[in-house]
Amino acid sequence: MPDACDAVVVGSGPNGLAAAITLARAGCSVVVYEANATIGGGARSAELTLPGFIHDVCSAVHPLAAASPFFKTLPLERFGLEWIEPEIPLAHPLDNGSAACLYKDIDVTAEQLHEDADAYRRLLKPLARNWEKLSIEFLQPMLHWPRHPITLAHFGILGVCPATLLAKFVFKGDRARALFAGNAAHSFLPLETPLSSAFALVLGLTGHALGWPIPRGGSQQISNALASYLRELGGKIEVNHRIENLRELPKSRVILLDVSVWEFLRIAGQEMPPGYRRKLESFRHAPGIFKIDYALNEPIPWKADACRRSGTIHLGGGIDEIAAAERDVARGKIPERPFVLVAQQSLFDPTRAPQGRHTLWAYCHVPFGCSTDMSDQIESQIERFAPGFRDCVLARHTMTAADLARSNPNLAGGDISGGAANLMQLLARPILSPTPYRTPLPGVYLCSASTPPGGGVHGMCGYHAACVALGDRFPTRKH
Ligand SMILES: Cc1cc2nc3c(=O)[nH]c(=O)nc-3n(C[C@H](O)[C@H](O)[C@H](O)COP(=O)(O)OP(=O)(O)OC[C@H]3O[C@@H](n4cnc5c(N)ncnc54)[C@H](O)[C@@H]3O)c2cc1C
Repeated sequence: MPDACDAVVVGSGPNGLAAAITLARAGCSVVVYEANATIGGGARSAELTLPGFIHDVCSAVHPLAAASPFFKTLPLERFGLEWIEPEIPLAHPLDNGSAACLYKDIDVTAEQLHEDADAYRRLLKPLARNWEKLSIEFLQPMLHWPRHPITLAHFGILGVCPATLLAKFVFKGDRARALFAGNAAHSFLPLETPLSSAFALVLGLTGHALGWPIPRGGSQQISNALASYLRELGGKIEVNHRIENLRELPKSRVILLDVSVWEFLRIAGQEMPPGYRRKLESFRHAPGIFKIDYALNEPIPWKADACRRSGTIHLGGGIDEIAAAERDVARGKIPERPFVLVAQQSLFDPTRAPQGRHTLWAYCHVPFGCSTDMSDQIESQIERFAPGFRDCVLARHTMTAADLARSNPNLAGGDISGGAANLMQLLARPILSPTPYRTPLPGVYLCSASTPPGGGVHGMCGYHAACVALGDRFPTRKH
């Protein structure tokens, strides 16, 4: 264990690294402890299948990293981070062989939604015009004085609606409804639940504002760039060091924990005041996922041409089928036809696979803690829209909820969101406070996706937590 320092960060996920950088930029000496042999948490890449095939272990597509006000302030390009924008951010194939797409251009998106072209423009255009203002409001704790109250209220009225209700009220056709439902399903909420529309709107807006970019070389490049910048600022990172108890950390003025609520309870639960501990114990998990990566001998033979030009594909058919799958998952049932998220990075980034070969990244939602192998259900969904897919497969690598938890203590039960993103837990994440990062333990702050603004690779939880810590413990330092 090294000598005493100003700040210790536990966990080198995007939020841990963001917190460490914020502290180091304010002049603090910082050490990061990472349980894994590699840095990056949910933003890592590895040869999971065959040599030369680089797979994203967790995150693949990064609209939130591109939107992150904190990442925008960092010189990550100087450390090798390069964004690639697939020609079409998202395609959602349908059983008639066509696909509804999210293009960067709102009008192009609207036109291919046929009868819903005007409705799509009316819904998205006013929000897209205010995207910069909105993104600042979302990417911080919900309990704050809004800087743009009218814009936020406009978004809030729509966003709080259940996705099935808003989609069926606003759109007449299957294409627009399916596109909206697929984006809403990223919430892990049943689509009849309040707030599920907010996810559909935010993902649509990020697509129009920024595309859905992928990093050249894999998600690991985001973490490597963050870590290189941290080291340039004097920060240190120690891997293969899982913290079992806060008492084993070196002396420091602040401790930032890039760990889930449940890992926090494990390593410090005994030291928490009972009231706070009970609040954390009542924090709810999101459902889990089952993940599969493929090495392919050729690109996927999608029926819909647009799918061959898209970075991300949503598989699940129409809105009713997607809603049924998400309802099953929420009730603890394995869906027969799950909603599947697919990314085909190698189509746009040749560094991901040997020449002429391809990678495919996919996952589906399953009940929390589910240990079922969903390979067959996922492959049936891909075959449905790309007959002959199975013949392209050279190798597979699967991860159940238990495998995910083994690869990262924050993913217990396969929950990749740091806790459910329902209305209650969006306000109280993990507690109801304008500064929910602060804990009752002196100098200890939580900075993972279990804090606002929640899941995704954006680093904003780490940045906000570090700012609170700096304000409390180093009030004279600029950040
Ligand atoms: C399969 C999958 C797909 C995803 N897809 C996307 C996507 O496409 N786009 C997107 O934006 N987001 C995606 N996400 C979500 C995203 O990866 C997470 O929301 C994000 O990584 C959370 O960052 P974090 O820093 O809070 O935690 P993590 O990234 O989970 O990092 C936490 C780190 O802390 C370490 N740690 C935990 N406990 C300890 C301990 N006791 N001692 C030492 N170290 C510890 C862990 O090993 C880990 O490295 C995906 C996640 C998964 C799993």
